Amino acid sequence: VTSALDDKGRIVIVGTGLAGLRAAESLRSEGFTGEITMVGDEPWEPYDRPPLSKQALVGFMPPDHVRLPRLVPLEPVSWHRDTSAVRLDRDHRQVELDDGTLLDYDRVLISTGVRARPWPDMQQATLDGVFVVHSVEDSLALRERLANKPQRVLLIGAGFVGGEVASACRMLDLDVTVVEAGPTPLCGSLGATIGKMAAQAQRDFGVDLRCGVTVEALEGDADGRLRSVRLSNGTSLEVDVAVAALGAIRNTEWLGDSGLAAGPQGVTCDTSMRAVDSSAMVTDDVFVAGDVARFPHPLFGYELISLEHWKAAVLQAEVAAHNMVCHESERRPFVNVPSFWSIQFELNIKVVGLPNIADEVVVTQGSVADRRFVAAYGRRGRLVAAVTVNQGRYLEFYERQIAEAAAFPTDRALTDAPEDAQPEPALVLVPNKTTHQSPVTLAGEWPGSLHAESTWTPEVGK
Ligand SMILES: Cc1cc2nc3c(=O)[nH]c(=O)nc-3n(C[C@H](O)[C@H](O)[C@H](O)COP(=O)(O)OP(=O)(O)OC[C@H]3O[C@@H](n4cnc5c(N)ncnc54)[C@H](O)[C@@H]3O)c2cc1C
Repeated sequence: VTSALDDKGRIVIVGTGLAGLRAAESLRSEGFTGEITMVGDEPWEPYDRPPLSKQALVGFMPPDHVRLPRLVPLEPVSWHRDTSAVRLDRDHRQVELDDGTLLDYDRVLISTGVRARPWPDMQQATLDGVFVVHSVEDSLALRERLANKPQRVLLIGAGFVGGEVASACRMLDLDVTVVEAGPTPLCGSLGATIGKMAAQAQRDFGVDLRCGVTVEALEGDADGRLRSVRLSNGTSLEVDVAVAALGAIRNTEWLGDSGLAAGPQGVTCDTSMRAVDSSAMVTDDVFVAGDVARFPHPLFGYELISLEHWKAAVLQAEVAAHNMVCHESERRPFVNVPSFWSIQFELNIKVVGLPNIADEVVVTQGSVADRRFVAAYGRRGRLVAAVTVNQGRYLEFYERQIAEAAAFPTDRALTDAPEDAQPEPALVLVPNKTTHQSPVTLAGEWPGSLHAESTWTPEVGK
């Protein structure tokens, strides 16, 4: 790579989580020898979040031993830990910190991620016994409370994090109630087929699962300790620990007057991870990566999507770092097929593509009853996602099929799908409007140098 930024270049990275660290490492791997400044509002070294709702809660690893491995030396690098960026001044190319420091930059990376959505009533949220799980501190505090053997733990929300924490609590032999507004766990993103299976798995593991119900209020005693919750069906439940697993909020407030297209849905960028301004014009010196990024995906109608996926954060960071320092002609896009995983109730769930845009689903291998299967998801005759449960080896096949915009249902000759496998409605609870209609497929080297190629052949005269 010929560097467009020489050794006098200054790069500021705001947000020192997975994407921030991987971007800094990629800058050094790309041969950048200039100044790197890392700004993070947490006191810790960059760390990994997935174990915080899984292994760390059951004692397989201490929650404060999740530091990310350093893949390449970063030095020289200056760190501003426990320090928030409060403003981005694009006219003067400066990042302002909460201690008043102004950092000059030639390129800046926004990798500020998301935070847990707290229980909406501020007073109830501060009751002793109410938790969220997002940071090391959250996981440490919850783990300590779980070790004190609470009478009953309530999970508010049965998405991925909710299910993982409930699973950890059952491994600790604690009584657990899960309250989910939708008809099943995981139905928001994976739909009814997996949702029903996940509901049965939770019940088999002893969870008191209540779906189609919401929590209306958290009630405390005179000492401010959580004692009970009131549910929308008029019943009450005695609990001494409640974990709000209500999704995430993007950390974009500090960009309020930056002139960027930043808001509650993230910071919008193009596939080169360059931020766009509020007129949707692409910038050349502001880059975005990780959970905070909102980008167009060629495979999915070029519509803007955000992912909260570990692998996307890593790959976006690599693309952003490359494009920060390379010449214009050498820029690369981030166009990879989305993928993520979750482990709960002995279900090893792996997802490729976007199940929440699907209208149909079909089980193509294995058996749902045995909890070992593959489900393929389609939208208007095209494959858009696949989920494997305890059967990860088919994942790469489906990832490639999605990249090639393969037809749905998948050709039986390519899989050992049962003859009678019939697509049924996906029934995703929070469907994404995004389409899968762009006439493109992905080509190039996996996973790093993919690009989209048009397959459009316009009919002359039409
Ligand atoms: C409990 C949990 C379990 C998960 N499990 C899985 C899983 O099983 N599989 C999977 O694929 N993904 C999982 N994820 C998602 C995955 O961890 C994220 O996709 C990944 O961490 C994103 O990296 P990031 O760098 O964008 O954000 P982060 O790692 O969150 O880093 C962002 C950093 O920026 C900091 N920051 C925010 N605002 C500012 C500011 N103004 N100034 C300075 N610093 C700031 C934040 O405090 C944070 O340290 C999980 C996430 C959580 C919370």
